[in-house]
Amino acid sequence: LGTSLRGTLEELRGKSRLTEEDVQAVVKEIQRSLLQADVDVSLVMELSDSIKTRALEEEPPGGTTARDHVLRIVYEELVALVGDSTELPLEEQTIMLAGLQGSGKTTTAAKMAWWFSKKGLRPAVIQTDTFRPGAYDQAKQMCERAEVEFYGDPDAEDPVEIARRGMEETADADVHIVDTAGRHALEDELIKEIEAIGEAVEPDRSLLVLDAAIGQGAKEQARRFEESIGIQGVAITKLDGTAKGGGALTAVNETDSTIAFLGTGEEVDDIERFEPNGFISRLLGMGDLKQLTERVERAMAETQEEEEDWDPEDLLSGTFTLHDMRKQMNAMNRMGPLDQIMDMIPGLGGGLMDQLPDDAMDVTQDRLRRFEFVMDSMTDAELEHPRAIGQSQIERIARGSGTDEETVRELLQQHKMMERTLKQFQGMGQGNMDMERMM
Ligand code: GDP
Ligand code: MG
Repeated sequence: LGTSLRGTLEELRGKSRLTEEDVQAVVKEIQRSLLQADVDVSLVMELSDSIKTRALEEEPPGGTTARDHVLRIVYEELVALVGDSTELPLEEQTIMLAGLQGSGKTTTAAKMAWWFSKKGLRPAVIQTDTFRPGAYDQAKQMCERAEVEFYGDPDAEDPVEIARRGMEETADADVHIVDTAGRHALEDELIKEIEAIGEAVEPDRSLLVLDAAIGQGAKEQARRFEESIGIQGVAITKLDGTAKGGGALTAVNETDSTIAFLGTGEEVDDIERFEPNGFISRLLGMGDLKQLTERVERAMAETQEEEEDWDPEDLLSGTFTLHDMRKQMNAMNRMGPLDQIMDMIPGLGGGLMDQLPDDAMDVTQDRLRRFEFVMDSMTDAELEHPRAIGQSQIERIARGSGTDEETVRELLQQHKMMERTLKQFQGMGQGNMDMERMM
């Protein structure tokens, strides 16, 4: 599937004008991917129309090939389709979760609390589900694992009363996350209950929690919850499974909201803030976004320095010099963190990156800047053979770059670590999936 989009794009290479058939071929492949990811047909059609109209009517900016032009339009329209991330100020607030039973509300409540606690806030989860047996224990255990405050009452029967008391009991917390009951199907009773809880806790925002596998059912759910409590954001759960979550876009569209969080597992830290790039790459299949973004970035780059013409797959062959590291750092500035880039390389995605030491790929923006200065002060020979750099050179480089010896050593250390890491990948790139050795 991903290959056919790539193939179609390849066929456009070298063309200076696109015909209607060319555009149609690209649109067809995108449609295929999106429909397979459960994106609603009418949304797919809207997107297709915009792409077609723009690709045929807009003039490619100077220096842009027809292929890059269409890619840029495709990418922009996909970003418009999935939308921005729901704004979540890091301040005191009450968030209520809504959704059907099993959608992942309780798990998401604990995960979000974990997330807020990592941001330095003090969250509390209030569990109001009196409907599902074991709901109290489940929520309590998850909150223990997330190490966040929890309020619930296994003996109480009135969810509204639990919610009210929960807000009082956890008054010291900054972020109140109110978990609610679900039902197997949308019922008036469920809607009435959540409305009443909403009146009791007065949430700043309510999020609709949806299973990634949701298809057309998303529309009706979204509409009902939107009418009763108002939905400001969506959390998509179970993205670690095969479902890509495209159905949730229907809910986003229906509620005129955005996506806030993605759930990617059963543990409390299996949560990500929604981010359009990553989600689009999920919808289309990993390899494709890499090609899209690379192309788009290239098309939009004002100067096309040779240095920037960098392909992550190059890392999988040959030696890794400081020249390579620098290219990779520049590319990272444009494309996102290296671990995400590595995820886009077919065959290297998935959980492999998780198995590497945390700091193996950690180069923060600030370090990147300092490393740039250091590398500016190195000779070509030093960039090619960093292992040969000795103490006197370190001193000279530190002086010349206006940094210090420690920074130079840190850079050399970082290079060594990346080199080691990439060596492991090189083995795998050649089809040597020896997991034992990786560990
Ligand atoms: P609720 O009924 O809406 O509160 O849903 P729960 O939070 O109880 O989740 C229902 C089931 O889905 C539980 O078994 C969870 O462990 C599981 N679950 C929730 N979120 C995720 C996720 O992101 N990934 C996976 N694999 N399972 C999840
Ligand atoms: Mg629950």
